[in-house]
Amino acid sequence: MNLRRSWLAVLLAAISIALAQQSSSPLSRDTDPAIARVIASVPAIDNHAHPMLSPPDDATDRNFDALPVDSMAPQTDPVAYRPGYPPLADAWKALFNVDLHPPLTPQGMEQLDAARAAVKAREGAHYSTYILDKSNIKTMLANRITMGTGVEPPRFLWVPYEDALLFPLNNSGLAAATPDRTEFFALEDKLRARYLREADLTTSPPTLDAYVTQVVLPTLRRQHAQGAVAAKFELAYLRSLDIGNSTHDQAATVTQDILTPMHRLTARLTSSSRTISSISSPRSAGASAWRFIFTRWPGAAATSALPEAIP
Ligand SMILES: [Zn+2]
Repeated sequence: MNLRRSWLAVLLAAISIALAQQSSSPLSRDTDPAIARVIASVPAIDNHAHPMLSPPDDATDRNFDALPVDSMAPQTDPVAYRPGYPPLADAWKALFNVDLHPPLTPQGMEQLDAARAAVKAREGAHYSTYILDKSNIKTMLANRITMGTGVEPPRFLWVPYEDALLFPLNNSGLAAATPDRTEFFALEDKLRARYLREADLTTSPPTLDAYVTQVVLPTLRRQHAQGAVAAKFELAYLRSLDIGNSTHDQAATVTQDILTPMHRLTARLTSSSRTISSISSPRSAGASAWRFIFTRWPGAAATSALPEAIP
């Protein structure tokens, strides 16, 4: 499970070990040994990671990313993430005390899994901190939906996800754009439902101001109170970054008139076509506010009526 995550988990260790063992590296002739020694001794801050929980919760952990890469279509990995990356051998040795050389055969993979399992069994809830210690990482910013066993301050600092807050209505048009987005918007819907639950709500409030004061701000405040040090956005996976700059009043008007919660919107659509004509001009205030809300009309007909409003 999460093979790619496993590679990522040992990557930093591989790099720092490669630096420390530079005398055997073909790059050593170009590296000042005094500078390399200092660099290798300085504890790192990993400012973007998705650490998984320590045992016993590692096996069921899915909160390491709002949009896990294993939900994405196959892609080409950077060289250092690939199974044949030579420094992985040093990382496996340092972290799990096993002599293996990439790329691994199926039998080699079994050996690596067994060696890792032995270290996890030995370290238990301390496993995540053990990995940081071995990799000389002092602080890791944990991009996670929630923190948990072994992934806790002060060594791990929380960075929660906010994209779900940006898409409060029906996202079926955006979700249908690519297979990745189909998976991603379902995950964002789930996360937004969690944020609504935590705000003691079951549906989004009907106005922009109510949505901001009852959902957005309480969520951000709760995350901050629970130790969040930054906010994570994965917006580029979900839509274009060509975002307009509507005023509050434009957005609020659209929210109130058009972007009401889906049960009310559905009722309006079945009883009247008024709302379609009110936003049919891409230069209208409604179209501009549309960008502000970061969302898309739920129906294909309305989507085609807003060619410029919807990036
Ligand atoms: Zn990330």
